[in-house]
Amino acid sequence: MQPSFDPSAAHFASRYLAAFAALPVAVQYGFAVVLGLVIGSFLTVVVHRLPVMLERAWRAEVDSAMPEAPKPSADPYPERFNLAVPRSACPHCKHVLRAWENIPVISYLALRGRCSACGARVSPRYPLVELASGVLAALSLYAYGPTWPALAAFGLCATLLTAGLIDYDTRYLPDVLTLPLLWAGLIVNFGAGGFATLHDAVTGAIVGYLFLWCVYWLFRLVRGVEGMGYGDFKLLAAIGAWLGWSALAQVVLIAAVAGAAFGIVATWRKRMRFEEPLPFGPFLAAGGAITLFVGTPLYSLLG
Ligand SMILES: [Zn+2]
Repeated sequence: MQPSFDPSAAHFASRYLAAFAALPVAVQYGFAVVLGLVIGSFLTVVVHRLPVMLERAWRAEVDSAMPEAPKPSADPYPERFNLAVPRSACPHCKHVLRAWENIPVISYLALRGRCSACGARVSPRYPLVELASGVLAALSLYAYGPTWPALAAFGLCATLLTAGLIDYDTRYLPDVLTLPLLWAGLIVNFGAGGFATLHDAVTGAIVGYLFLWCVYWLFRLVRGVEGMGYGDFKLLAAIGAWLGWSALAQVVLIAAVAGAAFGIVATWRKRMRFEEPLPFGPFLAAGGAITLFVGTPLYSLLG
């Protein structure tokens, strides 16, 4: 008798998907939210550590190219420092978090936002990022059902969230996030059942990059200011690769309006000086995520 084994990975994976789709809807959402929270907990680590890792790599490169160059002071982190090592610790008392203290959101609530050892305040950003990730996972399931595109949509959201926060913190959008995101968008749209046709995705990557590149040079030549960086072009190219070129006008419009509103409120509340440049990445990321879920209703409103 022939064993009923199908070697195709797609078939193997689709059996898992079919099993998941057969679960009660509430269980599906519970699973999505828990997955989102756990991934969100990992994202907070990436947001905190990736810029430090990239700066170290960059310094090592400068060191080897120019051994005579003056050495800037080292960062306060241990020598071995990556996304897995060392374990998370309180920045005040170095208390290493126990397993249960790493449980997303719940540990923050149980400890009332304080370190269990020294009582120092824990930034509410941690549970907020975890919650955002959980909500985005549930939204992905809601918008796309128990399908692979739902998982891909969540992957896009998680990367946008991470890149947006890193840009907000450091004014820098790392290539290690934007470039793989661009490739992932093209790959997701390679077959049928993606978010855009492959033609629209490739056009979106090109138009996304070139549009902001043109705006950047226009501002630079006319007014002598740099409102954006090359990371922004790459991020919009990635969003174009995921959602297709036709989504880009709405993404940029949402980003521009949200960025302007944020800038006005931040200046008004004296959080920022008026001339201070605003990172554009977080708003592009938000525009991309919103467009992923609601489509482009703005176009029909505008006529
Ligand atoms: Zn502590």
